[in-house]
Amino acid sequence: MPMPFLGKNHLYWCNNCNIPILEKNNCSICNFSTEKVPITAPYDVRPAFDKDLELIRRTIDNQFGKGLGLKVIEDHKIILLNKAPYFDRMDEIILDGKILGTIRYNIERAQPIWEFIPRIEGAKRLAKFGCKKWVKVDEDAVKFIRQAANVLAPGVIDNDNSIEYDEYVIVINPNSEAIGIGVSRATGKEIPKKKKGMVVKTKRGIQDATLNILPSGQTWDLVLEANSKMLENKEKHALNLIKNVIKRYDLPKLVSFSGGKDSICTLMLVLESGIDFKVFYLDTGIEFEETLNYVNEIIRDFKLNDSFILCKTDEDFFKNIETQGVPGKDYRWCNRLLKLNVIIQMIEQNFPEGIITFVGSRKYESFSRYQDSLKGHIVKSKLINKQINVNLIINWTALHVWLYIFSKKVKYNPLYKLGYERIGCMYCPANKLADLEILKEIHPELYEKWHKILENQAKKFNYPQEWITKGFWRYNNKEKWRLNTDY
Ligand code: SF4
Ligand SMILES: [Zn+2]
Repeated sequence: MPMPFLGKNHLYWCNNCNIPILEKNNCSICNFSTEKVPITAPYDVRPAFDKDLELIRRTIDNQFGKGLGLKVIEDHKIILLNKAPYFDRMDEIILDGKILGTIRYNIERAQPIWEFIPRIEGAKRLAKFGCKKWVKVDEDAVKFIRQAANVLAPGVIDNDNSIEYDEYVIVINPNSEAIGIGVSRATGKEIPKKKKGMVVKTKRGIQDATLNILPSGQTWDLVLEANSKMLENKEKHALNLIKNVIKRYDLPKLVSFSGGKDSICTLMLVLESGIDFKVFYLDTGIEFEETLNYVNEIIRDFKLNDSFILCKTDEDFFKNIETQGVPGKDYRWCNRLLKLNVIIQMIEQNFPEGIITFVGSRKYESFSRYQDSLKGHIVKSKLINKQINVNLIINWTALHVWLYIFSKKVKYNPLYKLGYERIGCMYCPANKLADLEILKEIHPELYEKWHKILENQAKKFNYPQEWITKGFWRYNNKEKWRLNTDY
């Protein structure tokens, strides 16, 4: 699943301090040279929060044995996640400057499940710590497996008998070192009985046994210290942009605040500039209560009450579903009805002469945002007349944004800590199915409400079960009712 290019990979690692360094070939703390981390595009890397780590460790425990999660993904280290292309949520897990594996919500199976797919570093650690799901081959087979050849039955000398068909397994040599990662093509009970044929389809061969586990004890404060110059430059650039906008346009200024990380980052930059501005939040009626509370807290904490414009749509999302059906990624009627119309009205009432709006769009988020970024930082809105958008963080990755937030010690939306990577409306078709699983956990009644709506729609139009279970409801166009990776 190749990804379109959205921007450069800015992630480097100092193996001496064991921390990420953005945009630099050497570490400002120890002066050692850094190494680029070979993550997958679009390179929108972010910190792993406690809930993410809990999920990853639990998934590793379920697959490879109790207690392995915490051994492989250690505590007191800087751990990052990098969004990778897949049908649903999939993230590369970065630790010690290496990709240990990926965690994904596998919706290709009849029952979706969370799955840990080890990469070379992850497999070496799993083997070292005595995992389940291993297949041991004889010395003659080792060099072929290291080159990613499939594991054939005659080469197997032992195996874990809990292996099920079509599971990720670690191939080990007679010394129990990892030499490959693959997917089982026979169960653990069948393997010893097989005389010929493939038993593991090898996905990656592992050339050498060296395992470099770096010391722990790093903190985000250390990461901030090492990246402070870069953050200063980013801030300086954004403040200059604000200055230029002020010079160029004699119009009122507004910060569009959604309660997400990109908009708090934008708000902090505009606050830092010291200009006069208003803050706008739009309640679509399908907002998370966590977001509504958070927005109020920020407005209160920064004493922005007098500048705050809070709008709420009169439209009822659920009533509109009766006539328009559920919204899709390709049919975002809710965007016009619940958002655009309200914004247009708000601008006409409050800013008839026009408005400069500071928004938190980033090119690393999606292909359409990347295309928008080609027009520059200051863009006339295509959808709202009289609105000029200023994208202060268009070239920032999620990690730039998070570091800026951490450096300002400002509160961020608690939903991130609960596992959300992106925050929008609760029932947004742009959400992953994995996001709905989080909703099920934190607000079961709201999840049920949505599930009932989907069931009623499926019944009314005689849609297949996959329309719900595989998330095809998120596309209006029936031709897209297959697993796909729209970006
Ligand atoms: S964020 Fe999603 S659900 Fe909300 S208005 Fe936009 S498209 Fe619709
Ligand atoms: Zn260093």
